[in-house]
Amino acid sequence: MPLVLLLEDDPAIADTVVFALRREGFEVHHSLLLRDAHQHAQHQRPDVAVLDVGLPDGNGMDLCRQWRTAADAHLRALPVLMLTARAEEMDRVIALETGADDYLTKPFSPRELVARLRALLRRSAMSLAPAQPAKPLFELDEDGQRIRFGGHTLALTRMEYRLLATLLAAPGRIRSREWLLDQVWGLHSEATDRTVDTHVKTLRAKLRECRPDLEPIATHRGLGYALELPPAHSG
Ligand code: CA
Repeated sequence: MPLVLLLEDDPAIADTVVFALRREGFEVHHSLLLRDAHQHAQHQRPDVAVLDVGLPDGNGMDLCRQWRTAADAHLRALPVLMLTARAEEMDRVIALETGADDYLTKPFSPRELVARLRALLRRSAMSLAPAQPAKPLFELDEDGQRIRFGGHTLALTRMEYRLLATLLAAPGRIRSREWLLDQVWGLHSEATDRTVDTHVKTLRAKLRECRPDLEPIATHRGLGYALELPPAHSG
């Protein structure tokens, strides 16, 4: 249940908002004073705060500004919706300049407030999640004849590059030594099965330097080699 901190000194507005939020499944802490709201935010770590501007002991915008520069990371990141009294452009600009994430102008509908708070909560949940999907384990740069593995550019010889690129072209597919000799070294080279094995060995050592936890080149006894990606990186 998301916890909402509501700082509002007008009892009529506060009652309506508290009622609407609880009905929608939010937990609400209602403060009448800045001091109380600040203490609550510090100790109870609400998920989102709704701040009125004009309060008996100060201005809600000052509280928001104070949080944005606080040493406490939770306060700095706490999503804030400011309740501004007038629809004037100046108030809105100031509200956003204090570091508020959103604002509503009084009078507002409780349903609109609920919708805005849900959006703020979604946004803050997303910013806590990894910002970007994981990078692919292998990144093939054909133009540069380079392969990156686990974020590191591998220092490969020409033949190691060709061997790994060939395996990368069809992950999971078992390739025989003969087939690899043909594809990588070419029919008329003097390379032998041993050459393939030696190159696989040095490749594995280079891969292991980047990711000791993975062994992406699998040996299939009597059949050959295959590049096998862990489940998170395949598909
Ligand atoms: Ca007020």
